[in-house]
Order: sequence, then C-alpha cells, then structure tokens
Amino acid sequence: MKEEKNKKQEKEEVTEQTIVEVVEEAPKLEFEEKPEEFEIVEIEKETKPEIKTDVEKWQPKTEVGKKVKVGEITDINQILDKGLPILEQEIIDVLIKPEHELLLVGQSKGKFGGGARRVFRQTQKKTPEGNKPSFSTYAVVGNKNGYVGGGYGKSKDTVPAREKAIRKAKLSVFKIMRGCGSWECNCKTPHSIPFKVKGKCGSVEITLIPAPKGKGLVVEKECAKALRLAGIKDILSKTSGQTRDKMNLIEACFSALKKLTKHKIQPEQIAELGIQEGALK
Ligand SMILES: [Zn+2]
Repeated sequence: MKEEKNKKQEKEEVTEQTIVEVVEEAPKLEFEEKPEEFEIVEIEKETKPEIKTDVEKWQPKTEVGKKVKVGEITDINQILDKGLPILEQEIIDVLIKPEHELLLVGQSKGKFGGGARRVFRQTQKKTPEGNKPSFSTYAVVGNKNGYVGGGYGKSKDTVPAREKAIRKAKLSVFKIMRGCGSWECNCKTPHSIPFKVKGKCGSVEITLIPAPKGKGLVVEKECAKALRLAGIKDILSKTSGQTRDKMNLIEACFSALKKLTKHKIQPEQIAELGIQEGALK
C-alpha cells in the first residue's frame, strides 16, 4: 500500500510541475510587442541623428560618381548646371559636406488632439493578421551656403525611414540665389533673397519676402530649419492654407526657393541687389 501511495504522490508532483512550466511560458508571448514603443520615443527625441557615411570605402557605380571619386569633378555646379543625374548620396557628401535635420511632421497620440510634435508620422494599415504600422519622416539637407534639398522617407521601422529620407534629401539638392532685395536695407550683400517669391503645394501657399539685416528668419519653425541650412539669414513670410500639414508647407517652401533661380534677371540688377548664386566666393 505504501509503495502505491508513493507512486501516486510522484505522479501528482510530475503533473504539477508540468502545469507550472506551461503557466510560466504563456505570458511571455503577450509582453513581446510592448518594448517597441519605448524605443520609438527615444529615437524621436533626436531631430539631428548622427549618421556617418564612409566616403573612403565608397565604391562608385555611376559615371558621375566615378568622376567625383577620382577628382575630375570638384564643384557641385559642374553637375547641377549640366543637369547630370545624382544617384549616389556620397557625391553630395564629398562635394558640399552637408548637415541634416529631421522635421517634426508627425504627432504623438494624445487626448483632445493635443499630442506633441514628433519626427515620425505613424500610420497603420488594417490587415487580416492585425495592424501593420509604418513610419514616415521628412529630412532637410544643406551646407548653410547656397545648397539645400529635402526628402521624404517611409518604412516599416523608424531607422530605415530616417535613412531613406536623408538619402533622398541629398539626391534632391539644388542651388538657391541670395541677395538683398529689402527696400529698408539696400546693403547689397547676400544675407536675404533678392526678390519676393511664391510657392505652392496642395492648399498651402507661402510667400517669401526679403528682409532687412538683423531681422532673422520670420517663418514657421520647420521652414526656418530649411532656410537656415540653405544659408539665408533674414526673411519675412506669409502663408495661407492648411499650414499644419508640415510636409506640404515645406514642399511649398522649396518650390518657392527653386523659383529664385528661374527668374530672368537684368545684368544691372545683379550688382544692385547683390545677387549671388550658389556658394559665396
Ligand atoms: Zn541687406
């Protein structure tokens, strides 16, 4: 009888152990999804992430890239004036040594529609398997001396979205024109823009107006980031439409800046307005 009792006890113990094991394993699966959110918040704090591209290890694949690597092309104007395609971001890294900055295009979740501005715009797609999140962001690139570009990046995760945006921004670099078109100033140095320009994207319309020296960048904050990277020190502006859509606003700002170089200018105006194209000499 005693032996039988022992056996029964052993069996019970074994079954108890297995139950404990099963219970321990189960809740682990539920917690796996949560840590991602914390990571996102940490990344979002940085509008200026450190991303270094290795120019020395770069092996160019395009013709323009090879010429830059060899040293045949040393000025970005040699590429932009001919309209040659820029397909490798290292070309820009070598020629103008740009700085980058991410714009606050997204919004964190909050009650009453009052979430703080974020670097990443988070969206979700409904699928049979569940919600598939994706992240998008907008980067501005410039050398603070006449050249800027902007790019949009979207991906399943934050880091590739950021890299995509910066890469696209570098590939879309263009030249701006600076001068002093302010009637209050008349100093003939390129600290502002030479004349008034308008840009539009969606419903957003922006007018950039020359400002006198010392005025600073009187524009919406995200546009100011782009103008600072372009090397403009003083400007006035006027906007209309849905300006809380930061992506349309910044696109409108870029289309205005692009119009600067498309204007026909009389030769006597160059000296009068202190017009300088691209980098200052
Ligand atoms: Zn001036």
